[in-house]
Amino acid sequence: MDKGLIEQVRCCNSTYRMQFPVRADDGSIVVVEAFRAEHSHHRLPTKGGIRFSPDVTVDETIALASLMTYKCALVGVPFGGAKGGVCIDPRTVSEGFRERVTRRYTAELIRKNFIGPDIDVPAPDYGTGEREMGWIADTYKNLKVNSADTYACVTGKPLSMHGIPGRRQATGLGVYYGIRACMEREEDMQPLGLTTGVAGKRVIVQGLGNVGYYAAWFLQNEGKAIITGIIEREGGIFNADGLDVEAVFNHRKANGTILQYPGAESVANGMELMERECDILVPAALENQITGENAGRIGAKIIAEAANGPVDFEGEAILSQRGVLMIPDMYLNAGGVTVSYFEWLKNRAGVSFDRMISRHEELVKRELLEAIENLTGTKIPTEQRPRLIQGPSEEELVIAALEQSMTKAYNNVHRLWKERNLPDLRTAGFLLALERVAESYKNHGIFP
Ligand code: GLU
Repeated sequence: MDKGLIEQVRCCNSTYRMQFPVRADDGSIVVVEAFRAEHSHHRLPTKGGIRFSPDVTVDETIALASLMTYKCALVGVPFGGAKGGVCIDPRTVSEGFRERVTRRYTAELIRKNFIGPDIDVPAPDYGTGEREMGWIADTYKNLKVNSADTYACVTGKPLSMHGIPGRRQATGLGVYYGIRACMEREEDMQPLGLTTGVAGKRVIVQGLGNVGYYAAWFLQNEGKAIITGIIEREGGIFNADGLDVEAVFNHRKANGTILQYPGAESVANGMELMERECDILVPAALENQITGENAGRIGAKIIAEAANGPVDFEGEAILSQRGVLMIPDMYLNAGGVTVSYFEWLKNRAGVSFDRMISRHEELVKRELLEAIENLTGTKIPTEQRPRLIQGPSEEELVIAALEQSMTKAYNNVHRLWKERNLPDLRTAGFLLALERVAESYKNHGIFP
């Protein structure tokens, strides 16, 4: 590829750094620093979450925005990559302060044309969720009264504000589909000393937030994996016979900690648990969790990168050398942005996906069923009929499309890995994404 083209793909197209005043609960004024980085305009809108954390920096925001570009390209979501960061600690501020910050941040983005259905579409990320997305949509709607597809300005919204069913669990469910796709291939499992399939595999999960919780839940309840360890900020718990993910979640909600979960070993230093022997380690919290310092001691055979950037550069070199298989973040956690894309489409169309097809499908299936009954002379039992003929719900359509998208993307990356004899899945993922972004720049992005 042309060197200049590569440089254009590498660099971040626009970054907006802002500092704005927000009224604190005691009436004083606090200056909040925030960012939005649009990494690549080769496709519009740009897309990516907003992170609330006291540790966000402009460099981190830009790096995460670039990851969004590659992620979208890999799973065929026709957007450029973006990311936002707001330097507040969501755990210590009041809900009122959070709301004021979110609305002011949105107003700043509007002022500089950094948000809009065709421009840049935020979503949840670390420290934000449906509630914040609702505030963003509401602020945007009130300041931009003239557009019919207003709600497409942000995704991950509550259902009551034109969100989409399935978005909440999408990233974690996508992680499960990705691990499942990876573990189906005997040629890749055999060198690790593993049989194919997720069932019965021992899994340690770091992070019980939205991504970690749903990834663990689906691995356990759909995949029949054994969740042996769960790590959170306050420490970790371990039980070789398996932990009940939902029960651990409820225990944490009730007690404010996962520690002392009945029947499990509690470990005060969670990072210690990351090193325990297991089949799959799922880091689903923050970046740089596995580094040159601890990579040599990681006891997992597969690392499933549910978080963005959980393995750093040095850590990766050590893990590769040790033969650990890494399923890269840019593929594995792309389920979130995939379903965000569906939400955006729904908001643009102004109609939900099931509305136009559900009844029609039911009628076709009913006719088919009756034809089979007439031909065979057998009546399908009445209690089985509704399930056989009912049309799909919107959630079923979303989940099926997510599954297809994750499986197809894995097959593409895997094929490239093997065909071009590349060192690993990450290199294959980067190559595929880079080729797609560069190709689209060549065709559309450069003005004469
Ligand atoms: N923040 C999520 C990510 O890192 C979701 C982004 C989106 O849905 O736009 O992929």
